Amino acid sequence: SRAFNVESVRSEFPTLNQTLDGGMQPVFLDSGASAQKPQLVIDKEREVEEQYYANAHRGRYSFGARVDEELDAARDRIAGFINSETSAQVAFTAGTTATLNMIAAGWGGRFLKSGDEILITEMEHHANIVPWQQLAIRTRATLRYIPLTPDGRLDMDRLDEVLTAKTKVLAVTAMSNVLGTVTPIAELAARAHDVGAIICIDAAQSVPHMATDVQSDDIDFLVFSGHKIYGPTGVGVLYGKAERLDEMDPILFGGHMIDRVYKDHSTFAAAPAKFEAGTLPIVQAIAVGTAVEWVQGLGVAAIHQHEQLLLESAYSQLSQIPGMTIYGPDVSHRGAILSFRMADVHPEDLAAILDRRGVMTRHGHHCTMPLHDLLGVSATTRASFAAYNTAADVTALVEAIEFARRTLRVA
Ligand code: PMP
Repeated sequence: SRAFNVESVRSEFPTLNQTLDGGMQPVFLDSGASAQKPQLVIDKEREVEEQYYANAHRGRYSFGARVDEELDAARDRIAGFINSETSAQVAFTAGTTATLNMIAAGWGGRFLKSGDEILITEMEHHANIVPWQQLAIRTRATLRYIPLTPDGRLDMDRLDEVLTAKTKVLAVTAMSNVLGTVTPIAELAARAHDVGAIICIDAAQSVPHMATDVQSDDIDFLVFSGHKIYGPTGVGVLYGKAERLDEMDPILFGGHMIDRVYKDHSTFAAAPAKFEAGTLPIVQAIAVGTAVEWVQGLGVAAIHQHEQLLLESAYSQLSQIPGMTIYGPDVSHRGAILSFRMADVHPEDLAAILDRRGVMTRHGHHCTMPLHDLLGVSATTRASFAAYNTAADVTALVEAIEFARRTLRVA
């Protein structure tokens, strides 16, 4: 990978290289929601649209063949990126939320029964809570939670209390979208397998920031979204061990996912086709391959190192601001996300004032209401970092918060 030069990285992002009304440069600190796209990814989408757009799957003409080739290449690239055993174990989906619903209904719906337990954590995104709640209702299984330590890590000392022979699925985020907490995936997988459970990883937040290896971590299912890894919206990824995908039922039925259709019944194709009913978001899926290629070009380790330096700087400067509360663990246990509150300032007011300085953050419960209940607040303001953020962005955040303190006359 080439040497990491943040100014050069940033120059690849058209949205970040414009002047906002008022003459400010954008300080984009909401990549945890959706990352910006480098020119390479935008160009790839245009290339497909302008040069060979067609539906996928064996059109006997040049456009169709090219689309198939590009989709295969994207699938191969993603498989390599997460170290999947084969490309056939990577299916394109509509996103993390859609994929977690597929697994809960399609695998959980097949195997769970009354008395079984589903184990998640207190820091999950609603996308990794609600599908399991629905599964529990349908199967009369019980949903349980791994508790957190006071500083927002998984309380591994209490894992035995909740991970038992009754547990059939452990579904956990690899990185919290609020606390930034990085969870010990390999250890959790081993512990889950010890009791005969499978492990399902919500990697939506982790894939852009740290290396993913489904084989070394022994992961059964792993899911993520294109739009958080510098790619388009509307597309995500399902990875599964071959055996898991074989035994998992599809939840969308129709074209392409079948083997043979008779008037009264059908047989299904093997993965990945089994999970790709209908027309895929073709352009977007191809562009996710390009986004992953872009990340690989920089090196996910180099991106991680860069972001952790920004995180350390932001964490230490924000900690010194009077009245500031930062939620979650210290920087050694988290990725580059900071959620905070300042005194009694409402997180939305804070975000709105930061925006007056061109500093774009997100406020609210970030789709983690149970976590916010635990934190005892209804909302936080969140700054999340990506490869294109600079030390100047951190300075802008700190200065904008100081500006907010003065504007709001916080003591
Ligand atoms: N899980 C986590 C940890 C997330 O951060 C998000 C996005 N905020 C999701 C799931 C849902 O992803 P999507 O909206 O792309 O389906």
